[in-house]
Amino acid sequence: MAPPRLFVISGPSGVGKSTILRGLLETVSGLRFAVSHTTRPRRAGEVDGRDYHFVSDEEFDRLTAAGAFLEWERVHDHRYGTSRAALDGGAGDLVIEVDVKGAATLREKVPSAVSIFIGPPSFEDLRLRLAGRARESEAEVRRRLRTAEKELPLARDYDHRLVNEDLGPTVEKVAAIVRAARAEAPGGSGDARR
Ligand code: ADP
Ligand code: 5GP
Repeated sequence: MAPPRLFVISGPSGVGKSTILRGLLETVSGLRFAVSHTTRPRRAGEVDGRDYHFVSDEEFDRLTAAGAFLEWERVHDHRYGTSRAALDGGAGDLVIEVDVKGAATLREKVPSAVSIFIGPPSFEDLRLRLAGRARESEAEVRRRLRTAEKELPLARDYDHRLVNEDLGPTVEKVAAIVRAARAEAPGGSGDARR
């Protein structure tokens, strides 16, 4: 059996990563979402163990000290981490959504990972999506836009760069990236479990 591949999706907050991921998981079979740990409180509709492993600060400290994370970052006031266990075992390829710093670490630690940067059609579109989502305060939206200004130039470091103009075509483009990676002959370096 071919070793699992890791697809890393990143990009600024509000660009549509979670929405694209949901579409991707419905479109492509044999793809699993690698569940991260976070200290952020659970939002309405989120399920522990499905969307995130929601843990206390103390538990996150304990896991960090135990070397459980391949990478972790503080993002918008909370900590988020990719555990080694999340990339371990199980059948099928893995897809994970991380911030740009986490993506840089994963590219370094899992060189075979396929990294995909999602950008907005324009900065104004990003602002409208963040505001339209109506999840964060106005001040928090402004803060995320300031962060986005620093994140957008990092798109050059990724294997693939996509603009999330219309959702359907974007999901299809990510699906095409997954299919193309699967079609490549295994070179022995595609194992995400390291
Ligand atoms: P992220 O996970 O990157 O923070 P979300 O998936 O929460 O972003 O999307 C942010 C907002 O933008 C949501 O309200 C979502 O419905 C909307 N959105 C996602 N993709 C598109 C798109 N292609 N065109 C317009 N709005 C979009
Ligand atoms: P949210 O709280 O909106 O679900 O996610 C906030 C940010 O944390 C997003 O940019 C998301 O990509 C990032 N994130 C989620 N999981 C991880 C992770 O395991 N590691 C890192 N570095 N970032 C993550």
